[in-house]
Amino acid sequence: MISVDEAVEKVLEHIDVLEAEESPVLGCLGQVLAEDVFSPINIPPLDNSAMDGYAVRSADTRGASRRSPRFLRVIETVTAGAIPKGEVKPGTAVRIMTGAPIPEGADGVVRFEDTDESEREGTPQEIGILTGVEPGSEVRRAGEDITAGSLVLRKETVIRPAEVGVLASLGRSKVMVIRRPVVAILATGDEVVDIAQPLPQGKIYNSNSYSVAALVLRYGAIPKLLGIASDSEDSLLARLRLGQDADMVITSGGVSLGDYDMVREVLAKQGEIVFWQVRQKPGKPLAFAVLRGSGGKNTPLFGLAGNPVSAMINFELFARPAILKMMGRKNLVKPTVEAVVEDDIENSDGRRVFTRAIVEKRGGQYFARLTGPQGSGILTSMALANGLVVIPEDKPGVKRGDLVKVMMLDWSEEVE
Ligand code: AMP
Ligand code: MG
Repeated sequence: MISVDEAVEKVLEHIDVLEAEESPVLGCLGQVLAEDVFSPINIPPLDNSAMDGYAVRSADTRGASRRSPRFLRVIETVTAGAIPKGEVKPGTAVRIMTGAPIPEGADGVVRFEDTDESEREGTPQEIGILTGVEPGSEVRRAGEDITAGSLVLRKETVIRPAEVGVLASLGRSKVMVIRRPVVAILATGDEVVDIAQPLPQGKIYNSNSYSVAALVLRYGAIPKLLGIASDSEDSLLARLRLGQDADMVITSGGVSLGDYDMVREVLAKQGEIVFWQVRQKPGKPLAFAVLRGSGGKNTPLFGLAGNPVSAMINFELFARPAILKMMGRKNLVKPTVEAVVEDDIENSDGRRVFTRAIVEKRGGQYFARLTGPQGSGILTSMALANGLVVIPEDKPGVKRGDLVKVMMLDWSEEVE
């Protein structure tokens, strides 16, 4: 039986980064840029005002104060988006709004607050300047954010909302990104029924396909639900065929000790089993295979355990980094924190243990307490948790008060 770390390594060895495609910018959140993005324009395009106020020749304001204002003739008002008509000659000013282009002749802006505008009726013909300004004061220079021709975003950058904004500011509506993988998801088991059906006696609803599909979505891939295969070779083969165009296949169930024979037969016929069983708890019965498709296409397959908690944890540990690698992402590890554990946790048989925990920060220190019963069928333990306490293989357990490593499933912004 291999360790979690060996298993992750073996999985990633079989995963390739997908191709690039052109995509609308808003659809690219979380994707990786596949081109260097240069700017065709200056941003801002023109010198413009950083404030609402008066564009002036700074020399005209020298020595101005509340006691000794300098009076200037107002020749026009420029709003954002407009082009000033006149030139600011000595003794004149242009009333200007934030973002509006600085008129010719002006080299600074005096804020409304530093003028006597509030004491005047209507749009003033003349304005009293109450403070001196330096050249360049409240002026945003053309190209101060981005100069035309410069490299703005490098290839391999992960697109976050800020990058979406930067691309939009360049007028890019489409951009080259590594495409999102399509992940085919298949449930197995004679006892499993679809959530849209009434629940017959002795059956359970298919929760795994949905928790897995939600995880696939969370990490930026595209889920494709293949339904439920019954526990027969024919049914499994027929359903797997529906997923042959996918970039990855994830099944749940049928991989525990008693059931594995059938799945093993099917996977061996369709490709190669890379490993089965990982030294961890929960989630030991994990199968990883590579399906051989037509035209030399290799499709990785994760055979997750049927138990709903095991399925989710194995997804996080193995399918998540695989999806991220396919998407061209470089940082594949979940964030971890060090926390004081508030319960005793046993590790009886030398596996890596992942217990569902609620992590809270109190007085600058993280604390982790168990969510309650830790059975691998208790899916509500995942719903309560925001992290997994990780007990290493070689540790017989931890005691309340010990420092432990916690793999964060969610940060507090998402958990109340
Ligand atoms: P198996 O790995 O097929 O032996 O399944 C282990 C446990 O997980 C059994 O109790 C199953 O009923 C349960 N299980 C299997 N598939 C699903 C599913 N899609 N949704 C919810 N529970 C499941
Ligand atoms: Mg089963």
